[in-house]
Amino acid sequence: MSETNGQSRQHTGGDLLVRQGRLYTPEGFIDDGSVVISAGRIVFAGADGSLPTNLEVPWTGKNVRVTDLPVIEARDYIITPGFIDVHMHGGAGHDLMDGRLDSLQEMAAAHGRHGTTSLLAGAVTASQEALEAVAEMVKEAMDVSRQVEWGGAQVLGFHLEGPYINLEKVGAQNPAYVRSPSKDEIERLMEILGSGLRIITLAPEVPGALEVIPWLRERRVCVSLGHTAASYEEAMEAIAAGADHATHIFNAMGPLHHRDPGVVGAVLATPEVTAELIADGIHVHPGAMRVVWRAKGSSRICLVTDSGMAMDMPDGRYVLGELPVEVKDGVARLVEGGALASSTLGMDQAVRNMVELVGVPLEEALKMATAVPARQIGMSERKGSVEVGKDGDLCLLGPDLLCQRTIVGGRLLPRD
Ligand SMILES: [Zn+2]
Repeated sequence: MSETNGQSRQHTGGDLLVRQGRLYTPEGFIDDGSVVISAGRIVFAGADGSLPTNLEVPWTGKNVRVTDLPVIEARDYIITPGFIDVHMHGGAGHDLMDGRLDSLQEMAAAHGRHGTTSLLAGAVTASQEALEAVAEMVKEAMDVSRQVEWGGAQVLGFHLEGPYINLEKVGAQNPAYVRSPSKDEIERLMEILGSGLRIITLAPEVPGALEVIPWLRERRVCVSLGHTAASYEEAMEAIAAGADHATHIFNAMGPLHHRDPGVVGAVLATPEVTAELIADGIHVHPGAMRVVWRAKGSSRICLVTDSGMAMDMPDGRYVLGELPVEVKDGVARLVEGGALASSTLGMDQAVRNMVELVGVPLEEALKMATAVPARQIGMSERKGSVEVGKDGDLCLLGPDLLCQRTIVGGRLLPRD
């Protein structure tokens, strides 16, 4: 992804010293850990005792005087890489499909308050015209979300969750626009988004889907099985063709039956496939979440919010795309038919639920919210762990595992 690398090197991020917290690194926790960020990138991550007063930045040759940096004392916090949410549709009273940049900015700010520092904007099933309009806006957001005025999670691209899905498993998507995959349509979105078209959810059993999978992989698009009634055999064929991701496992796909294991069986049984998990305790029973964890391990689970408009909002009436949604006790359902229609979840709560409801060790839950999603969207060089050279994206969690501070590119996000 050299194009995005080039872009990121042009912007000037913030400078910051985050000091003496419980630092989560790929090698495990460092109890008295500090992180130095210079011009938006991490230049030191390690034990505070080994923090030098002067640091040379290898890629610029410049010297950073650590004592000159603004400091965040992190003594009571867990310092983690910023969370990466590859599946969200809204938040703070806004829905992505309204196509407005200011709406996406407010959603990105709301997700930022829950520790998310990068996200993919998730488009639902809609007309090609509507999808292109949203893609244009998301492309603009990819550019402006690197700037200080943005004030929220950075927008890394697009997750197209439809329209190439199965009508039988349409879930909360609008059946009026469901159709078979079209390379022409996808190419037009690629022209708009460049490398920003990062995930496409499709049902492999719909006509033309199997042919399009290797074609998408050649173009570095992650293919995700979802909103599908595929059999185990059909799912295995799609995996052999290059699909290596599954959209919100258990939701909008057939159940695991011992004589008909379906997509769930194929995903759980195949190590190279990563399963998205909506860890709100509502979309998937904690017992089933535990099954996924035991089968896949933390390297193949990607925590997502699948959040809608009502995230960080009171109960009431909302929409998902064009469809009316009722939110009661934080649970969002379509007014017509009652299908679950997105969540009200933040990524910090997802991590906490994995620990508290499922019994997953914290370091494994953190991996599912950071390194795994970064890998799935081809962004591991820049995102997903606290290591020298990576972007200065951090989340500070309190003892209750909820996000207290979020840092994007070395800049502290506002709290309100
Ligand atoms: Zn979704």
